[in-house]
Order: sequence, then C-alpha cells, then structure tokens
Amino acid sequence: MTTIVKTDPVRPSNDSVEAAAEVIRRGGLVVFPTETVYGLGANAYSREACLQIFKAKERPPDNPLIVHISDMGMLKEVAGRVSSEILGKLERVWPGPVTVLLQRSERIPDTVTGGSALVAVRMPDNILSLELIRKAGVPIAAPSANISTRPSITDSRHAIEELDGRVDFIFDCGPTAEGVESTIIDISGRECTLLRAGAKPVEELEEIFGPIRITEFSRGLLESTVPLAPGMKYRHYSPRKKLYLASSRLFAREVSERSEFLGKILIIGSEETCAKSRLDCISLGKEADLDEVARNLFSALREFDKTQCEIGIIQPFEERGKGLAVMNRIRKASSGYTENLDSLRTYLN
Ligand code: AMP
Ligand code: MG
Repeated sequence: MTTIVKTDPVRPSNDSVEAAAEVIRRGGLVVFPTETVYGLGANAYSREACLQIFKAKERPPDNPLIVHISDMGMLKEVAGRVSSEILGKLERVWPGPVTVLLQRSERIPDTVTGGSALVAVRMPDNILSLELIRKAGVPIAAPSANISTRPSITDSRHAIEELDGRVDFIFDCGPTAEGVESTIIDISGRECTLLRAGAKPVEELEEIFGPIRITEFSRGLLESTVPLAPGMKYRHYSPRKKLYLASSRLFAREVSERSEFLGKILIIGSEETCAKSRLDCISLGKEADLDEVARNLFSALREFDKTQCEIGIIQPFEERGKGLAVMNRIRKASSGYTENLDSLRTYLN
C-alpha cells in the first residue's frame, strides 16, 4: 500500500516528513520532490533498500543512483577524502542542481554506484528533501522517479499515476521548480567533464570549476553503445507515441500551419509557435524563456501521450544556458529528425 500525503514543499508538515523518514529508516521507498524532478529514494547505505529502487523503476542494475545529502558532514561519510579546495567549490554550488562524481567511501554499496569506484553526490535545494534526509539520518539514494525509459516526473500528479502501488510513500507537492534534472560533472580526475547537461548552466559552473569538457554525448547527439559512464547508454525520456525533432523552428512552424495534418500531428513548441498553429499544440512557454521551457518539458511529453494524435513534432530551442539540457532531453526523447514535408508524411500511417 502506498501512503500519499499532500504538503507544501517549502513548509512541509512535520508529521509528513517524519512518517516518510521512518519509511526510509526501515528500508522502504519514498517518492519526494527536489528542486529539479521527483526522486525515488531509499537509504543509500542499505544494499537491500536500494535494490528495491531498481525493482520499482524497472531500472537496469548497472545504471547508478545519485546520493542525496543534507549537509557537508554527510559528504565525508559517502565520499572518500575530499580536498579543502573541492569542498570550497562545492559550498558555492550546494544546495543546488549540481551532481559531482567523487571517490566513494566504503559505506556506499556497489548497488548504488553500479560497481564504480566513483559515487554521484548532490545536496538538493529543496526544504522538504533536506528535512527528509536530516530526519532519516542517512543519505538518500534516488534516481528520477519515472519508470525506466519514460520521461522524468516533474509533477506529483504524474508520480501518483505511475508509482501508486509500487512504492511505500509519495509526497504530493505539485510541480517542481526547475523541471530538468541536475547537471552532472565528473571532478574526480584532472580534467572536469560534463556527463549530463542539467538545470545548472555549464557557463556558471565553469566560473567555479574552470573549463568543463562538453562531450557530444552530454548534448544528446550520440547514443553510444560503449558508455562513457555507467548509466549513459540507456534510452531515456521517451513518450509512448513517436516524437520527431524538427530541423528548425521555422520548419516546425511550417508544419503547424498545414491543416492537412489536423488530428494526426501534435506540435510541441513555444508560445509563439502555438499562437499561429492550425494543429493541436502543447506550449512550453516563451521562446526566449528557457527556464520556463525546461519547467514544462517533461509534463508536456506525458500530456502528449494522452492525446489522440498519431505523432508529435517538437521544435528545437537555443542551446545556451538551460537550453543545453532542454535540447539534450528533446534529442533523447525523439525517435528521429524531420526536415521536410515528404519525410514527415512517411512517418504517418
Ligand atoms: P537519474 O537521476 O535517474 O537521471 O539517474 C542518475 C544518473 O546519474 C545516472 O543515469 C548516471 O548517468 C549518473 N550517475 C550516477 N552515479 C554515477 C556514477 N557513479 N558514475 C557515473 N554516472 C553516475
Ligand atoms: Mg532518470
């Protein structure tokens, strides 16, 4: 049985957090909001509890989990020795949507890291999640709360639809603030590498960590069968219906103005594109407001699946700031690319 409790993520009720912390302490699963997306959490020190995460999510066992901490004291328990220089840098980005890879401590089981010697750690910028970790008294390992391969969950409505009956506890706290997952960087070696574009723009991280290598993979341009890091090889964020990325904003608009596609094609685009569309549309927000686009993206992918149309066309957005994460998610969620009406017609029945 799943306990579902509604509370304010900024001023969570003490009883609700206490009840969820108790679930974590006794080895259960809790779905909770962070500032990025909803997480599906368990006691990071317990191999058995973490195994339940993989089961509930149907997640491949070699796709590692992020360990969420509430204070720097906990960092010392999950990571090996961290230099004071790195600690100083982490204090500038935490709490916040930044995950770093560090040498793991012996307390972290293999289940959490996929057998890797590195552990992914972050301190979320969300009062409810920090209170939950603090009350549980242990770090919480949590991947995104979606079933594996599905779009991440950024609204508790979708968490309840997908996970009621699969977990012990769900916090019903409405939409999350950021809408895309944390930015993941590997700072364990000499060179700093981006593993996943996310809510924290790389430009801002470079001011703190120095130059960051951006791989094609982190932009979602390459689906490698030899993963750069565990967990990077898997299909991600996919709606059930086929979604195609338009080669340009203009082409997405051209499609949206063709009434021959009415009822067949749904457009996912900016407010500006939707304003002129003759087809059904889901708006992600103003074209230049990439924060808003990021916030709406995953919910839009899930709403798209509930419509009657055959396929979806999504427009590209500018790849700066949060746009790097937005385009990474869009590329991964898409089944292909479309640049002219002839190719598009072949995708329709
Ligand atoms: P999720 O929060 O569902 O997106 O999953 C966490 C992601 O963090 C995984 O897909 C990995 O890409 C990444 N990750 C977690 N732990 C590690 C690790 N030890 N090494 C490399 N990547 C990691
Ligand atoms: Mg995920």
